[in-house]
Amino acid sequence: MTHTTVSAYAAASPKAPLEKTTVPRRELGEHDILIDIKYSGICHSDIHQVNAEWGEGTFPMVPGHEIAGVVAAAGPAVSRYAVGDRVGVGCFVDSCRECDNCRAGLQQYCTDGGMVGTYNSVGRDGEPTYGGYSTHIVVDENYVLRIPEQIPLDAAAPLLCAGITLYSPLTHWGAGPGKKVAVVGLGGLGHLGVKIAHAKGAEVTVLSQSLRKREDGLRLGADDYRATSDPATFEELAGTFDLIVNTVSADLDLNAYLGLLRSDGTLVQLGAPENPAPIAPFALITARRSLAGSMIGGIPETQEMLDFCAEHGITAEIEVIRADQVNEAYARVLASDVRYRFVIDTATI
Ligand code: NAP
Ligand code: ZN
Ligand code: ZN
Repeated sequence: MTHTTVSAYAAASPKAPLEKTTVPRRELGEHDILIDIKYSGICHSDIHQVNAEWGEGTFPMVPGHEIAGVVAAAGPAVSRYAVGDRVGVGCFVDSCRECDNCRAGLQQYCTDGGMVGTYNSVGRDGEPTYGGYSTHIVVDENYVLRIPEQIPLDAAAPLLCAGITLYSPLTHWGAGPGKKVAVVGLGGLGHLGVKIAHAKGAEVTVLSQSLRKREDGLRLGADDYRATSDPATFEELAGTFDLIVNTVSADLDLNAYLGLLRSDGTLVQLGAPENPAPIAPFALITARRSLAGSMIGGIPETQEMLDFCAEHGITAEIEVIRADQVNEAYARVLASDVRYRFVIDTATI
């Protein structure tokens, strides 16, 4: 198969700083589109993978699964998109298309080999995949989303991972009027969780390490904002929430948070630190509580989320950076010093 070569930022080996390089993109197949990437969000998952916290990883690694751009070319059989369309790509670029989950539009839970990640994965052609910290990407049209006109491309990019990661569990567990929802961690995922849960009509509380970002949290739509460094938070809010979504990227004592759930409440784990978390059986059994997990969302729900965000005026709060600032941005994300998502202007690659 022939390839074109495009510019990208990659980590050459685990934990290495990202540097400019080139990577191959396949020639357009029947259903492929070539996307001129405009913006690429920096997700904490990029950092976990560059640091090989989720397994060895494949290097060189070009991270980036919050991609927003414009269609530059389309293969002969493409029917869903045309040149010039505003499009996005999230965490996966393919799946088996035939298992029950794929047929149900839950491609992220593909049971036949799993989804093909946008990077750090192997495509169905046997070639490694490279992500969005790059000028262009080739993706099958069935794994591409349409970005509504109302959402600027830079502020749309983080919706493709962070946005859908919160929209899906908030929808699945019924966040809405009369429901008390807590969002743990006000970072890239968390800030969109606050906006989306508020737009769905839920009463929203942010549980953050400190009150440093309280004003932001309330402005984003939170009704209450508490510091988890204050033991009183866990006493005062015991038995309060119907739903807690945990976006924290580090190890946390989940038992303390389970105690904040009312009877039949659910704690949904979204953060993906490398270590297992011990669970005290009594934290669950004394109030029929559930501990669950959720991973991004399928293609139909991701489109639904983008349309919901357009309708409700929801975009990500972003800081646009040059590609050569990416290593500095990683350090700031690790220090919880991000308000609330870094987005790379790929024209600077
Ligand atoms: P992020 O922007 O770094 O936000 C994480 C937040 O967690 C921080 O802003 C901070 O919030 C809190 N936090 C960080 N370290 C902490 C610590 N030691 N103790 C307590 N709180 C801490 O990261 P993100 O991009 O939102 O991603 C969050 C996690 O979700 C990552 O593990 C990522 O891999 C995972 N993720 C999962 C999915 C999925 O599908 N399930 C999708 C995307 C990402 P405060 O400053 O408010 O305390
Ligand atoms: Zn992500
Ligand atoms: Zn499948």
